[in-house]
Amino acid sequence: TGSLYIVATPIGNLGDITLRAIDILKKVDFVAAEDTRHSRKLLNHLGINTALLALHEHNERERSVQLLERVVQGESAALISDAGTPLISDPGYTLVNTARNMGVNVVPIPGACALVAALSVCGLPSDRFFFEGFLPAKQTPRLKRLELLRDLDSTLIFYESPHRIEVCVEDLISIFGEDRKVSLARELTKTFETIKTASLGELKQWIAADHNQTKGEMVVLVEGVARTLDHNIVDARKLLEQLLPLLP
Ligand code: SAM
Repeated sequence: TGSLYIVATPIGNLGDITLRAIDILKKVDFVAAEDTRHSRKLLNHLGINTALLALHEHNERERSVQLLERVVQGESAALISDAGTPLISDPGYTLVNTARNMGVNVVPIPGACALVAALSVCGLPSDRFFFEGFLPAKQTPRLKRLELLRDLDSTLIFYESPHRIEVCVEDLISIFGEDRKVSLARELTKTFETIKTASLGELKQWIAADHNQTKGEMVVLVEGVARTLDHNIVDARKLLEQLLPLLP
């Protein structure tokens, strides 16, 4: 049996490909990619002419089996997505899950990932975080998801598309309030890279004042519920419990 390599590619700056990724993409028998035209450009840039095969949301189930049969026969394969780490808000879960069930060796070739890059520079607590990925496009289910996350004491990480960023900030304000801290990490590793950390209220005004801030690719990070505040609530409850029996 050959191996299946899950290979991270850059999220903007092509310099972010790793030496190991280049080596693997050269030596495998074929590369499965979300968009073969997009990935051909990357491989050309790296001087790699390995065969490409399409694996996207719509054909992942059938394609995975076909592809893995070749791996079981001894070929080796790599999976890449359009940007960053496969499976992170990108196709690949069905492939990896099926591969492991078939006893295929699955090997990570780590590299760029927008959520990790954003978290590492935004200035919000990084010890605990919750990655939500893309929120639902429709408002009712989106607000429902946000309600579920309201009291988490971890930094919340969202992927958002530029045409929804303004309504997203509105919804974040309606659930978390204007004062909750937020960070907008835009165009990471690219020319117009901007990382703005402020309160939700301030971010809303900042975006309204400069529409360029709604363009490009973006990660939104929201500070979790304050942990010290949490302790106070617990302490207040304890105190109340101790005081209650003393009431006449
Ligand atoms: N697999 C990718 C990863 O590892 O981050 C994510 C793929 S997902 C389809 C694309 C989303 O990731 C974008 O809409 C944006 O939210 C985020 N993203 C990707 N590249 C980015 C960048 N250079 N700067 C900011 N956000 C980025």
